[in-house]
Amino acid sequence: MIEMAKTMKYVWFLPALVCVSIACPSRQESNTRAASPVASATVAKAEWSYGGETGPEHWGDLSPSYVLAKTGRQQSPVDIVASRAIRKDLAALNARYDATSLEILNNGHTVEVDYHGRGVIAVDGREYELAQFHFHSPSEHTIDGEHAPMELHLVHTDAGGHLAVIGVLIREGRPHPELALLWRHLPAAPFRKEAVEGVQVDASNLLPGSLASYRYSGSLTTPPCSEGVSWFVLQAPIEASAGQIAAFREVIHGNNRPIQPLNGRTITASR
Ligand SMILES: [Zn+2]
Repeated sequence: MIEMAKTMKYVWFLPALVCVSIACPSRQESNTRAASPVASATVAKAEWSYGGETGPEHWGDLSPSYVLAKTGRQQSPVDIVASRAIRKDLAALNARYDATSLEILNNGHTVEVDYHGRGVIAVDGREYELAQFHFHSPSEHTIDGEHAPMELHLVHTDAGGHLAVIGVLIREGRPHPELALLWRHLPAAPFRKEAVEGVQVDASNLLPGSLASYRYSGSLTTPPCSEGVSWFVLQAPIEASAGQIAAFREVIHGNNRPIQPLNGRTITASR
């Protein structure tokens, strides 16, 4: 604890972070830094969770701004049936991430790491900047009906506000060095953001060797479940040790939205 305190430049316990988590929940999948005060006011009481009366089956009724959670036809996550994915020679997904100073937040729904203009992906002639990444356990997407123990979401936005999310499934295996670094600073208490002095995080270390992906059009997996999100679920997983997975689950007790129907959407797969 003492050692941790020394490494922290500052720690916030401000109500503003309650806004990030509860009043501005869309920001979990988008950008925590650009919340509109108007939007915050309109959804200020729409607290949501992963179980009980504010759980996923009720999200669409918690606030008018969450209505897509029940009426949307292009929702995420989905089950990816590998044999049904349409194989195509898709343009390569090109990710250029640089290291950035570590800012890590437990927002009550996930553990999130902010990125500060230090990462870009280019796909289909569009560039998206990495805003943040965060984790789910178990995985939200399934492959052939199977959950992985965890899933990483790298959330990107382009100049027009379009979202592109890279999903990386995390299976149990060897300890992951980048997660080891992050987990040393895992904020156990919610609404706590730590800027860790002298520690750099590099999202490129969290990508598998191949960026071959399953692609489809979906939504945020947290309220307001907005659609128009370009999803890239990587075909190759990364690994984390059983201990690393357990350490995350001690802090976040189950944060996966159930699988949503495809409703005729197709999933393409890059070769
Ligand atoms: Zn997510």
